[in-house]
Amino acid sequence: MLPDQPFLRIPGPTPIPPSVQRAVNQPMIGHRDQETKDLLHTIKPKLKPVFGTEQDVLILAGSGTAGLETAVVNAVHPGDEVLVIVTGAFGSRFVQICQAYQIETHRFDVEWGEAVKPEAIEAYLKQHPEIKAVFATFCETSTGVLNPVKELARVVHQQTDALFIVDGVSCVGGVAVEMDDWDIDILITGSQKAMMLPAGLTFLAVSERAWEVVETNDRPSFYFDLTKYRKQLESGATPFTPALSLLFGLKQVLELFEEEGLETVFARHKLMKNMTRTAFQALDIPLLTCDEAASPTVTAIKPEDFDPEALRRVLKRDFDMTIAGGQQHLKGRIFRIGHMGYCSPADMLQTISMIEYALHKIGQPVELGCGTRAAQKTMLSGGS
Ligand SMILES: *Cc1c(COP(=O)(O)O)cnc(C)c1O
Repeated sequence: MLPDQPFLRIPGPTPIPPSVQRAVNQPMIGHRDQETKDLLHTIKPKLKPVFGTEQDVLILAGSGTAGLETAVVNAVHPGDEVLVIVTGAFGSRFVQICQAYQIETHRFDVEWGEAVKPEAIEAYLKQHPEIKAVFATFCETSTGVLNPVKELARVVHQQTDALFIVDGVSCVGGVAVEMDDWDIDILITGSQKAMMLPAGLTFLAVSERAWEVVETNDRPSFYFDLTKYRKQLESGATPFTPALSLLFGLKQVLELFEEEGLETVFARHKLMKNMTRTAFQALDIPLLTCDEAASPTVTAIKPEDFDPEALRRVLKRDFDMTIAGGQQHLKGRIFRIGHMGYCSPADMLQTISMIEYALHKIGQPVELGCGTRAAQKTMLSGGS
């Protein structure tokens, strides 16, 4: 094992591209200087295609959860009832945030590892027309499920005049999303997942329908008041000191997206998902989610006959490789591989091969190379 050669394969934080790392290290500038205005003016149009929107994407300093809380405080008026779709740990985080603000919260639970069925939400909303906002998780990081947010948006808007608010923290930048076409009202992401940056930025895009709600909201908030960010961004500014180093990096990330092409970025993520899945299928180790519900950014594996923590320990010890364990009731029962952001099919071949080695080390009767071969074949056949 080399010192200073970590292999980070968790669903965030993710590795940083060298050119982004260099950009982040640039000397500091004045946050009210022309250079900062120019930086924000360069970033602004380049972020829109990542969200699939014509709206300005607002940037706040804070982790992804700050973005979720910002959405809640801006979009929910005092006295409004909301529905949170819970497909795992991050769905419950939305519930916790709403409860912290004493918002009357309906909770729709889906078994962990499954995607929500839009028909079920349609039926729920028929029974509860009073609901003013529906919260969903796009990629549920704790299970590796990609929820059908396009179809959810459709049923929400057919049944009610509620806002549809989506946590896209672990997939925006890695999967295609058309916020405007699909009619998502608020789409949130963070910097440290598919956006290939260190943690510390959260991004929110807000629809016209949602702006009407936000602008008439008299819930008190100060740092999180989105109207301030919108107004300032029009002139290339932010209401408070922005995380300038991360903005330097963001500009470089957006240039890398343009260079690779967003379609290619999304196809790369799908390929990495398929390589990971076919590898574990070949190794005869069960996946937590079915093919239709699987996210291109993270894969959860649920072994029946070995301890995922033992596997993680060997990977850490012999390779300095970090993969994720399970959260809450899945702790000790699953492991998760992050394949998003600065991660390539070449990295996946290496990752799978290292996992095969570690499986052998913990005494699993695996045929070495069998998962790697399956992943290679997936690549050779064009990804599916
Ligand atoms: C990582 C993540 C978040 C935000 O977590 P922070 O630690 O606050 O950045 C929110 N939602 C999902 C789905 C995530 O994966």
